[in-house]
Order: sequence, then C-alpha cells, then structure tokens
Amino acid sequence: MKENWEAVIGLEIHAQLSTETKIFCGCATSFGDEPNANTCPVCLGLPGALPVLNNHVVDLGARAALSLALHINEESVFSRKNYFYPDLPKGYQISQFDRPFSERGVLEVMTATRDEAGHVREWRPMTVRITRMHLEEDAGKNVHEGLPDTDRYSYVDLNRAGTPLAEIVTEPDFRSSWEAYDYVNHVRRALQWVGASDADMEKGNLRCEANVSVRRKSEEQFGTKVELKNLNSVRFMQRAIEYEIDRQIKLIESGGRVTQETRLWDDRAGETRVMRSKEEAHDYRYFPEPDLQPLVVTPEFIESVRAAMPELPEARRRRFMQDYELSYNDAAQLTSEIALANYYELTAKAASNPRGASNWIRSELLRELEAADVAVADSPVKPEELGALVRIIDEGGISGKQGKEVLIEMFATGKTAAAIVEERGLAQVSDTGEIEGVIAEVLAANPPQVAQYRAGKEGLFGFFVGQVMKASKGKANPKLVNELLKKKLSES
Ligand code: ADP
Ligand code: ZN
Ligand code: MG
Repeated sequence: MKENWEAVIGLEIHAQLSTETKIFCGCATSFGDEPNANTCPVCLGLPGALPVLNNHVVDLGARAALSLALHINEESVFSRKNYFYPDLPKGYQISQFDRPFSERGVLEVMTATRDEAGHVREWRPMTVRITRMHLEEDAGKNVHEGLPDTDRYSYVDLNRAGTPLAEIVTEPDFRSSWEAYDYVNHVRRALQWVGASDADMEKGNLRCEANVSVRRKSEEQFGTKVELKNLNSVRFMQRAIEYEIDRQIKLIESGGRVTQETRLWDDRAGETRVMRSKEEAHDYRYFPEPDLQPLVVTPEFIESVRAAMPELPEARRRRFMQDYELSYNDAAQLTSEIALANYYELTAKAASNPRGASNWIRSELLRELEAADVAVADSPVKPEELGALVRIIDEGGISGKQGKEVLIEMFATGKTAAAIVEERGLAQVSDTGEIEGVIAEVLAANPPQVAQYRAGKEGLFGFFVGQVMKASKGKANPKLVNELLKKKLSES
C-alpha cells in the first residue's frame, strides 16, 4: 500500500551564528553561565533600550548564505514578529519577514539510497531549493522544576535571548526521510566548514523542524502538512519523519483526515504526539522594526566574503576524486570536516602518495583518534609525520604491519616515525646481498625440503619464507625475500 504514496517534506533549520556577542547588544553568547548573567537592558527588553546590529552577524550570515548557494539581497529589513511568551520579554522577536537577508538558493546535495538497516547503497545528487535564509534573534529559555502533582516552579533564563540565528527554510522538495537527513547533514557541514556556526545539535546551536505531508502518487495537490518539533539529532529527525509518513498514510487509508498541527517526537516511545493544533494561521502582525535601519550590503562586501571563503566541501570532494584518484566514499569521508580534509592534503603531500595517505588516515589514524576522543586538528601525530611514515613504508624501510605499530607509538608518545624505527631497530633489511646470505644458510640447513620443493612440492615455499624471516629476526624485507627465494630455489 505504501507504494502508492509519496511523502512531501520541507525543512526549517535554525542555526546559531558563532559570534562572541549577541545580535543587538554586547552581551556574551557563551554557554553554561549562571542564569541571566549575560543580559543587559537591550536583551531584557527594558523600555527605551535600543538595538544596534552586530557587524559580525552580517559577516557570518553572508558566509552561511554563500555556502548554501543563496542569493544575498543588497537590502534587507528587520521586522517585529509579535507574540506573547514568558521567554520573550519584549513581546516581539526581531526577525526578517518580507525582505530577508538572502533567498532563492539552488543547492546540489548528495543523497543515498539505503537498505532497511540504513546502510548506504548508492549516492546520487539531488537538487534542493532553499526558499530563504533570514537573520533573527533567539528567545530565552523557560526552565521547569519539580514533578507533576507537586509544587512546580518555572524560571526564565534570558542568557540565550538575543543570540544570533540564521533561519534556513526549504521548498517542499524532499520525498523521503533520508533525503531530509542527507540535506541537514550537508547544511551542518557547510556551516561548520565556513565557520558560520558550530551547528552542533546536541548543544542546541542547530535545531530543525520538519514539515511532512503525504499524497497519492497520482495526485498533483500537496496534502495537509504536519510540523514536527523536538528533533534533537539528525537521526531522530529521520525516524520522526518516517513514523509520521506511516501514520498519515494509515490515517487516510482508514478513512481519516490529517489535521494541520504541530507534533513532538518522543524517541523513547518512537512516536509523534500532538503539541498544538494549527488550524488557523498565526497572526504575528509583522511590521518593520522602527529602531533599526534596513540592512544594506554592497556587492563589494559580498565578493570580499566570497573571496575569503575556503573551497566548499563538495568541490573539494570532487577535486580529491580527480587529483588523487580516490573513490567517492573515500573522498567523501576525507571531506566530512575541513580539519580532516586539510590534514589529508598535507599528509598526501608529505608522503608523495595520495592513495596511501588516504588509506592510513581512514583505517589507522581515525581509529586512534576516535579511541582517544581527540579531534583531528589536535592529533598528536602531525600530517607531515604520518606522511613520513607512509614514505618509509613505501620505500621498504619497514613493513606495513610494523608501520601500524609505529603509528600507535607515534600517537602515544608524539615521537617521529624515524626515531621509533631507529629505537626499536625495526629498519628492514633490504640489502640484497645480506638476504641472499641468509637464504643460502636456510637452504643449506634444510636439504630434504629443498629436494622436495624442486621435485614439485611447491607448498613448501611458505616454509622457506618463514625460515628466512625467522633467521633475520623478522627484519628482512618480505618482498625481496620472496623474489630472491624464488630465484634461488629455481636454480638447480
Ligand atoms: P507556514 O505558513 O505554516 O509556516 P510555509 O508555507 O511557510 O508554512 O512553509 C513552512 C515549511 O513547510 C517550508 O519548509 C515548506 O517547504 C514546508 N511545506 C509547505 N507546504 C508543505 C506541504 N504540503 N507538505 C510538506 N511541507 C510543506
Ligand atoms: Zn544584552
Ligand atoms: Mg512559515
């Protein structure tokens, strides 16, 4: 029955821009301070206090907009969005309405088809239209204490009131929960990449809401949408959308009707629940903020921001595939964050071996970093040093297996690869004459095996390799041992 249905999804993301101070006053945006420590007459909404726009917000807003392929308006207008809530002392939020900071983005996002368990089958590009990205202030926070049916207290903490947000709204362009999932991850990475936002959902500096409706595949018209909130991670969002699609299809097929409402995702219960019905639209009585000038940005300013931005992640992934001959998956992994992409390029250069650098980072270094819970930017093994290690291995100085142990020691001690190889006496013997000497000894000590081998028992080859390696205390270059042994054994 699900085959006859199509889901339609639009997303709204709120990202906190990483400024030191709030959008309209000088209060700190730091997290975890004493409640109401970071407040002043402006963000407390005291009468007579006037907002002044923080220039850094415009800078980061421009970076965010450009990283999402949005068109930046040379003039935009702040508006008051009026509503009452205890965490909003002014009685209105300063936001943008009919003339937003940026709009009309057409973004290419890679999305994957996945199997039932969520494992990626295949990546393909998808086009997402971003309706707009506007700038606004955040509200404060209500904090509730006590259990139901006891004395309960509610507090208001205005530390967050006035922190700068970018609200990013898409057209209803997603057709599955995984498309929405891949888009949100794309946006998170883009914002982090250009330094516009930490975009960390756990810390609440990226929040998203999903609008979900379903329609029969034969229908043109969109169905009634439900808004999902309380999506505390990208995976929660994906699960919530999936649940909601099923719920709506079942509801309609059993003769019911979807009502326009806001629902909260409860991940423990694995279901969405009604928060409030939204039958009639809110009237926020928007009007232009009289205390702020229209925001004007010049084309020169926009170009200067663009010029200062790093190469964007998707472009960099494509370049990695081209220049370094990496697979899609490897290049995508190495461009999952900018620090890792930078680390990779430095390693590849030092190693003169891009594929080798990719393998060593993805299989060995990332495992060590993860186990130690260290960010790649703080890796005790610097890229130049990992590159040097790869080079020593490539040149036959030590084996790949030894290299793994050397890397672990580099990670633990911060010593260079060369120092560890030296200290441990690991350097492989690649001297042909020396290895030939050992081979001669081994063959002389095992005449019956030599005779059997030469009579056709080729399975004995491994035995000779083992003997030579043992006699050289594991230091002989295995590739050379193989070559030279073959030669010696074939001479009769
Ligand atoms: P509202 O006025 O309720 O805020 P908007 O038209 O501003 O609605 O859209 C809010 C979000 O909902 C946007 O991301 C938009 O793409 C999405 N949306 C609009 N209509 C639908 C629909 N029928 N199904 C799913 N998403 C929708
Ligand atoms: Zn303040
Ligand atoms: Mg809206």
